[in-house]
Amino acid sequence: MTTEIAMKVLLSKEDLHDGVTRMAQQIEAAFEGRQLTIVGVLTGSVVLLADLIRLLDQPMRVGVIQASSYRGATTERGDLVINSELMLDISGRDVLLVDDIFDTGHTLSRVVEKMHELGPNSIHSAVLLRKEVRQEVDYEPDFVAFQIPDEFVVGYGLDYEDMYRNLPYLAALQPEDIARHVTMAAEHDGVRV
Ligand code: 5GP
Ligand code: MG
Repeated sequence: MTTEIAMKVLLSKEDLHDGVTRMAQQIEAAFEGRQLTIVGVLTGSVVLLADLIRLLDQPMRVGVIQASSYRGATTERGDLVINSELMLDISGRDVLLVDDIFDTGHTLSRVVEKMHELGPNSIHSAVLLRKEVRQEVDYEPDFVAFQIPDEFVVGYGLDYEDMYRNLPYLAALQPEDIARHVTMAAEHDGVRV
């Protein structure tokens, strides 16, 4: 099935590439060839993680941690669940956490807190997006590729009900997108394999 969808593009594929390249250069300059342990926060960071690690010309270990707070709906927030079972050993390491978006900041600050318990040498963080006006915590991400307005966005790893992560651009979800999504989901219910 093809998905003939035209969403409101906030950042094109080229914009994203430029922004992630800029952020990679800042990270390289900050760590100057030191070995990094890069930890992607699942699931939203997977596309950024894949692109970023290939732009960084320095030794690194790569792992993931799982954190989920938003449960499908655009605004309601569930309890944050952090699962570090998949993660590699970070004790004594210089960690760079990679996440999709810093919104209220609760997710990233809680993940950083949890990772500090594992005895790393240092923890820094890099996010693709930041919604400036929404911040509710004291914690500041170290590297930010783009500041965006307070809109719910999908694509380049970010989802709405686990879909649209594969869009190569970043789109602001509109009411008509949600209506189409609901129709598609209902149709799909009849053909689930
Ligand atoms: P925070 O804890 O900073 O409020 O939320 C961070 C998490 O909420 C992100 O990792 C992401 O999963 C989700 N989130 C926040 N804003 C958006 C958004 O605009 N679009 C999507 N798809 N997820 C978002
Ligand atoms: Mg996330």
